[in-house]
Amino acid sequence: MTQKASENDDGPTVARMSKLRSPRPPASEVIALSADGIIALDRDRRISVFNPAIERLTGLSSTQVLGKTCSSVLRVTDQHGDALCSGTCPVLDGGSRTFDTEGFIDNTHGHRVAVALRYSVRCSARGKLNRAVINVRKADGLHQTDYMRSILLPLVSHELQTPISIIKAYASTLARVDANWSDEIVREKLVAIEEESDRLSRLVSRLLYTSRLEASSISLNPLLLDLPQETQRVARRLAELDEIHEILVNFPADFPPVMGDPEKIYEILANLIENAMKFSPRGGTITVEGSIAGGEVHITVGDQGIGIRSSEHERVFERFYRVHEPDVGNLPGTGLGLHICRLLVHAHGGRIWVESEPGRGSRFTFALPIVGEE
Ligand code: ADP
Repeated sequence: MTQKASENDDGPTVARMSKLRSPRPPASEVIALSADGIIALDRDRRISVFNPAIERLTGLSSTQVLGKTCSSVLRVTDQHGDALCSGTCPVLDGGSRTFDTEGFIDNTHGHRVAVALRYSVRCSARGKLNRAVINVRKADGLHQTDYMRSILLPLVSHELQTPISIIKAYASTLARVDANWSDEIVREKLVAIEEESDRLSRLVSRLLYTSRLEASSISLNPLLLDLPQETQRVARRLAELDEIHEILVNFPADFPPVMGDPEKIYEILANLIENAMKFSPRGGTITVEGSIAGGEVHITVGDQGIGIRSSEHERVFERFYRVHEPDVGNLPGTGLGLHICRLLVHAHGGRIWVESEPGRGSRFTFALPIVGEE
């Protein structure tokens, strides 16, 4: 058409007309260009559109999520870490409307991202879902306080309060003027106060460490590592503190060197082995095995402990998530260890997962790229 216009005497007019009538870009192009994340859901709440902006925000590719339900992919939580999808999801409401909400999503790089979500829902007269579109936008500054609250509230209410109460109770008992405590009792209570203070201090430093890791990208000091040797070092150190478990380390002779930050790799291994000890309360063997698979090395920490239901396999890596097992009582912990492991493994370009069944032990594996094979 433009070519025709230039051939014509009254070319400029035709050219102007053609400009006015320039074809609208297809909707798919507009959606792909949008700086906001766009997710479209079909009548079964399955994802039919997942644009590049939401791919960047979540770290997931559209091929991974198309056809899946929105709640299984987004997992939006509120500032207390509770799932929004199962509570206030407007798509389940049965009415045509728009709805705004705010929350957090955990991206595949292990970062918690504050997001503002705008739902536009269309339902039939009978209240059956026809289609829904969700716009997702990062909401940094706005949520800084909510973000801190989301870290602090659950921890303060559940974990910090217990040692504080114990310290207070023992200190008040010792300070009673009407009591005449024996040396033995005084020592016993002082030891308890010391232990609880240590616990409190560990909790606070773990909390600060987690928020530092989440708030900024993790800086690594990578070196070429001899993982079998590093693993032996961690295992020896932890074995000294534990008498009821046996730790076996097994790596093939041709295990390749891996690029990693020695401190961070130590931390990942120590977290996994300590968990294996803690969640195998009757003892047993803990194995740390190395293997090579494709372009990766795999390091697996296996135990013979209480195991984990398959519905919890993903969730145990979430911040503060702890499985409640009435049979094993209240084992100490913060629900931060595996979350930290995942942040550190992702910072190394790796992956982490668990295979487990209740009563049949667990196998936690992390994979790291082999040098020169990425
Ligand atoms: P913490 O151990 O401080 O509770 P983690 O983040 O390390 O926190 O672990 C989260 C939860 O995952 C634990 O509370 C426990 O329910 C489960 N878990 C972790 N490791 C194991 C294991 N080896 N065996 C069984 N359950 C485990």
